Amino acid sequence: MKKICSKCHKNKSNTEFSFSKIHKDNLYSYCRDCGNKMTYDYRKKNRKKYLSDIKKRYKKYYYKYYQKYSLEHKEQIKKRMQLYYLKHKKRINLRSSIYNKTAKGKHIQRIKSYKQRVKRLNGSHTLNEWNTLKKKFNYKCAICKKHKKLTRDHIIPLSKNGSNYIKNIQPLCQSCNSRKYNN
Ligand SMILES: [Zn+2]
Ligand SMILES: [Zn+2]
Repeated sequence: MKKICSKCHKNKSNTEFSFSKIHKDNLYSYCRDCGNKMTYDYRKKNRKKYLSDIKKRYKKYYYKYYQKYSLEHKEQIKKRMQLYYLKHKKRINLRSSIYNKTAKGKHIQRIKSYKQRVKRLNGSHTLNEWNTLKKKFNYKCAICKKHKKLTRDHIIPLSKNGSNYIKNIQPLCQSCNSRKYNN
């Protein structure tokens, strides 16, 4: 069987055409050579988009896979990381001490110590309680009464042994919160 390519108009054997579900004869209307050239030209022309598309697709797929994997192998991963740390202790410590001095590293250190502090807190409250509290305040800041993104403020500061129970918490906007913190 022979077929004429719609692109280069050469009469070519069927095997020179790729399989296609959507075409009547199950073959593309242009030959493999033309098809390859078209794909190549398209990618060359839209190189940036093509590369970012690949990246996006890869990220999406990889992230999903990674999440699933890390859930299924939680203990194994933990053990492996501990072993790795013991083996390369010196190098890791050196690297992290350098990293901790960068802006990003400092930021992460702050988050870490905040999380540790929260762990050691006196009492706790649920996300639900916090949401109810915000609703009670009509989603407004307790000080400036403005509709802003609200953060948890401890009425008696944690540093003065205030608790983390909901009764010691009020919703404040970022600026009121930091103003209070600085006074
Ligand atoms: Zn062709
Ligand atoms: Zn405010």
